[in-house]
Amino acid sequence: MVKRFALITLQMNVALMNCPPLKITFLGTGTSTGVPMIACACEVCTSSNAKDKRLRSSILVESSSTSVVVDTTPDFRYQMLRSDIKKLDAVLFTHPHKDHIAGLDDVKAFNFFSGKAMEVYANNLTEEALKREFAYVFADKKYPGIPEINLNTIDLAPFLIGDIPVTPILVWHLKMPVFGFRFGSFTYITDANRIDEAEKEKIKGSQVMILNALRHKEHLAHFSLSEAIELVHELKVPAAYFTHISHQLGLHDQVVNGLPTGIGLAYDQLQLLIG
Ligand SMILES: [Zn+2]
Ligand SMILES: [Zn+2]
Ligand SMILES: [Zn+2]
Repeated sequence: MVKRFALITLQMNVALMNCPPLKITFLGTGTSTGVPMIACACEVCTSSNAKDKRLRSSILVESSSTSVVVDTTPDFRYQMLRSDIKKLDAVLFTHPHKDHIAGLDDVKAFNFFSGKAMEVYANNLTEEALKREFAYVFADKKYPGIPEINLNTIDLAPFLIGDIPVTPILVWHLKMPVFGFRFGSFTYITDANRIDEAEKEKIKGSQVMILNALRHKEHLAHFSLSEAIELVHELKVPAAYFTHISHQLGLHDQVVNGLPTGIGLAYDQLQLLIG
């Protein structure tokens, strides 16, 4: 009983803890196919605007001492090279779909320079998929040169990575539970089409939120553009950017022109300073 009380106190402390100033970098803002999509000749996929080129969705969250990536996409290696990331302390996973986990093998480069296993934070569902899809990483007999990872199982309890407090938010991706994350006054949610009322409370008070908005037309597992706008207004978050974007959403510059005040489309390599 005493032990449990101590744990609850710790979790509350993390939730209330001051978050240091953060720099957010969008490593990718595309849906699972990326934009351009292979073999597509549409006006978005053939656009010469750099903002219409979207790797798979992921962000880097940095304080002055801690760097965390949310998801390791199939583009993870190139994303690390393109943003010149020299140090990575942890990987935080949202859910086990391939476009969010496929790049995990490439954390081995960070193992090599840090001399340490990579700290990986995932819920039970994602952990099962990692063990299945990267079985060689967890095998008893490991061959040389494979990534070393240290799995930390997370649930909805707030926790700390270095000096960055993290509060998981449960969202729904059709029937799959996905974790969004709140870091201080910044909230990142990808791959959702529904959020329960109680979990919405965790988002309220954010200064900036990121939300997935796939396309104009409704989709079974993702918010459409109008659904995402409606949710930002409902939660009264003053600034929002949309991510996980399909070529079907249209040209970046044209879509941005039609958005309400305070709402923008994220694009690859956009950086935000929080706090
Ligand atoms: Zn996805
Ligand atoms: Zn296209
Ligand atoms: Zn997904």
